Order: sequence, then C-alpha cells, then structure tokens
Amino acid sequence: MSELGSAARPLRVAIVGSGPSGFYAAEALFKAEPAVQVDMFDRLPTPFGLVRGGVAPDHAKIKNVIKVYERIAASDGFAFVGNVTVGRDVSVDRLRGFYDAVLFTCGAETDRKLGIPGEDLPGSHTATEFVGWYNAHPDYRDRSFDLSGEVAVVIGQGNVAMDVSRILAKTVDELRETDIAAHALDALAASRIKEIHLVGRRGPAQAKFTPPEIKEIGELADCDPVVNPADLELNPESAAELEEPGNKHNKRNYEILREFSTRGLPSKARLYVCRFLESPVALEGEGRVERVILEKNALRGEAGNQRAQGTGETVVQDCGIFFRSIGYRGIAIPGVPFDERRGIFPNRGGRILEGETPLPGLYAAGWIKRGPSGVIGTNKPDAVETVAAILEDLGSLEPCPTPDTGALLEALASSGVRAVSFEDWRAIDAAEIDRGKPAGKPREKFLTAEEMLAILDR
Ligand code: NAP
Repeated sequence: MSELGSAARPLRVAIVGSGPSGFYAAEALFKAEPAVQVDMFDRLPTPFGLVRGGVAPDHAKIKNVIKVYERIAASDGFAFVGNVTVGRDVSVDRLRGFYDAVLFTCGAETDRKLGIPGEDLPGSHTATEFVGWYNAHPDYRDRSFDLSGEVAVVIGQGNVAMDVSRILAKTVDELRETDIAAHALDALAASRIKEIHLVGRRGPAQAKFTPPEIKEIGELADCDPVVNPADLELNPESAAELEEPGNKHNKRNYEILREFSTRGLPSKARLYVCRFLESPVALEGEGRVERVILEKNALRGEAGNQRAQGTGETVVQDCGIFFRSIGYRGIAIPGVPFDERRGIFPNRGGRILEGETPLPGLYAAGWIKRGPSGVIGTNKPDAVETVAAILEDLGSLEPCPTPDTGALLEALASSGVRAVSFEDWRAIDAAEIDRGKPAGKPREKFLTAEEMLAILDR
C-alpha cells in the first residue's frame, strides 16, 4: 500500500466546522510537505462559521478575512461538504472509515448560564440568540425580541456584549446598509429602547472589551455614553494592574471610560450606561422580565487575580429586556470525549484525549480546543499547533479503509442528505448578494437551508 501523504495516497483529513480555525487548519495542512485531501464539513450549507454568523453586521471590515478563506478553499485537494451534520447525518465512527484523521473545529455554539432565579423568564435572552437572529443564522430566525420597553440590560463586558449592546444603541440608519437580517432591521426600527445598561461584575480595569469597541460607543449617532466618575475610582490592586505592560488594552479602555465620564450632560435620544461591580442575582416580573436585582460587588484577591465578591447590598434595575453575554460553551458530539466543566473536547496540544490517553486520529482546534477566547487571528497559531500534531503522528495513523470522498457523498445522498459543495456555496453567495442590491446592502442572507438549496435546484 502507498504511504500516507504520498501523491498516490494523500493524507485524508476531515475538518468538522468551517469557521476560522477550520480554514487556518486547512491552510496549515496545504502548506505542509505531505500530499493532503482536506474535506471540510459544516452542518449549515454556508461556510465561514462565526465570520458569517457571529461578527456584527456593522463590522464589515472584519469579514474581509473571508477573502483569505476563499483562497484556501481554491487549493487543490480542498472540498467543502456543507449541510452535513457530523454526529447526526454521519457518525464520527463512520467518518473515520473515509478519513485518516478527523479534526474538530466546531467552535463553542452555546452559552454559559448565570444560574439565577428568573433566568428563563420571557424577555431574558442569550447573546447567542440575539447575534444569531440579527445575523440571519437559520437556527435563530424565528426568535423574537420585545424591544418595546425603555431599558435593556446586558450582563458581561466582553466584545460579544459590546456587539449586542451596540446594535441596540445604533440608529436604523447606522445599520441599514449592512448585511443585517431584514427582520432584525425592521424590529430595531420599531425599538423604543432609550437606555442600554452594560453591567460588569468586576471593575473598569478588568473589563474584557477591547479599546476600539468601547471607543465606538462614544461615536454613535444618537446615543451618549454614561460613566459615573465614582465608578472609576480604583483600588490599589486595580491601579497596579493598569500599569502592567501586558494590560495596555485595559489601560486604554480605562482612559476611554474616563473621557466618557467627563462629557457634559447627555443630549442624544439614547443612553449607554456602563456599570461596574454588579452581578445579577435574580430576574423578576409578572410572566416576563420586568426587573433585575443586582448585587454590588467588591474586588478580592491580589493584582492580576481579583475576583468579584458580593457585598450583600442590592439595587433594583427595571428593564424590558435582558441579555446575558457571559461566554460560550462547546456542544458534545456523540463519539468524542467532552469536558462538561469547560465545554471543550479534552485535548493536549490538539490531540483529543480519553482520560490521559490521546485517541489516535482525533484532533481539535479553535474554541472547541481551548475555549471561547481570543480574536479571529488567535485561531491561526492554535490551528497550526494541532496540524503539527497531526503531521507528527503521520507515521502512526491508521490509514482509513475507504479513502474516497465520492463514496461518502454517495452514501449521504442515498440516505437523503444533500451535501453542498463550495461551487454550490458560490451560487448561494451570488444569489444573496443579488437579493441585497435593491436595499443597498452587501447581501440579504437566506434564512433557511431550504431557501438555499432551492437556489441550487433552479
Ligand atoms: P469574554 O471576552 O470572555 O467576556 C465574558 C464576559 O462575561 C466578561 O466580562 C466576564 O467577566 C463576564 N462573565 C462571565 N461569567 C459571568 C458571570 N457569572 N456573571 C457576570 N459576568 C460574567 O467573552 P465574549 O464576550 O463571549 O467573547 C468571546 C471571545 O470572542 C473573546 O475573546 C472576544 O474578544 C472575542 N470577540 C471579539 C470580537 C471583536 O474582535 N470585535 C467580537 C466578538 C467577540 P469576568 O472578566 O469577570 O470573567
């Protein structure tokens, strides 16, 4: 039999998930010496993961990275296999019959919970739902958000919380010519929200958002930022943290917040209130969220490792809608070990572990490997590390019995699964771009797989 990775028998890798880490892994495989066939699976008919379904519509520049992914997809030996759910349409075990290695880059698709009373009341939402809804993600198209109240509360101070709160704070004119879903634009046009409260459990020196994101809040067309100068008083540990060379972002955030706190009286239609050292302890209301009870916190611990601790003092904040944006978690796939506590696939350097032992041929990269942290570019070195592990294992990988993508696609088709190729995606892409033209939008995304597949049948 020919050697794995030779021209006669390329190394066959199934990448499960077509977001940034999937594409960076594919790129690293193509750059390596062995001949490779990379088949990239996605449960949606569309590629690009969070770049399509997560990045905010008003941050179009971030989406330019898609051009890089398109170049990777044009490599010899690349195939996109969209609209196929690994673990449902094809089991991991079955997939291994067609691939020498399976690399999971399926991200962190669900949210962490606060675990407080009232969390599941109507009007209490996750950031994931809202982001998916305004980005026309098929899973979230049917959600509805009641924007008829005057106050929205967003818990968490990471960049996802910034996206959610900024979309609530912007005028429709600021969003109109983006790729935001038409249903979201209509709902936001009718929004009566006047105040958005961004609530952090720790202080202004620990906020996780990045400086461009917080700066943007000071530049909105019809919304003023509000920061209470008293909230910017730092304990000695926080002051020391800001002087750490590794905390330049935090220091810049703090300067921006300080500038907000010196602005005169707000004059715009909406207020964006940055709040610190508060944690929600309960949501209350008659049949839906009407208020959140927030406990005041104090910071405990040494500089660089300060935690929020409740003081017992509470305040009540009335609100018509509530979002939690406190981080994501991965979802288990049958046949792959799962770390329930961290919401990732347990791994060492990308090799998936059963207990302490690597499972031959199973790998992970991106958020399902390390948890939901970092920006898009962080996934590149992460994916490179996992690909290095695959290449190191090349000599010991068990060659799959059916090294044939066509055979897999036939098996899928015969069980009624319609796989979408990259060519097919290009047709869907072109149709979305056309649909966006009348409204001056870069695209109007389809909301269902059925609509997308109908384009291919035309
Ligand atoms: P994140 O950056 O980890 O922020 C999570 C936030 O939730 C933190 O403020 C955290 O506070 C808070 N939190 C966690 N548990 C909490 C609890 N029980 N109660 C109250 N607050 C709680 O996560 P993310 O915003 O989901 O973003 C995920 C990653 O995507 C980040 O690396 C982010 O930078 C990236 N991202 C980037 C962009 C961009 O570049 N524009 C856009 C979106 C996302 P503590 O700090 O106290 O833990």
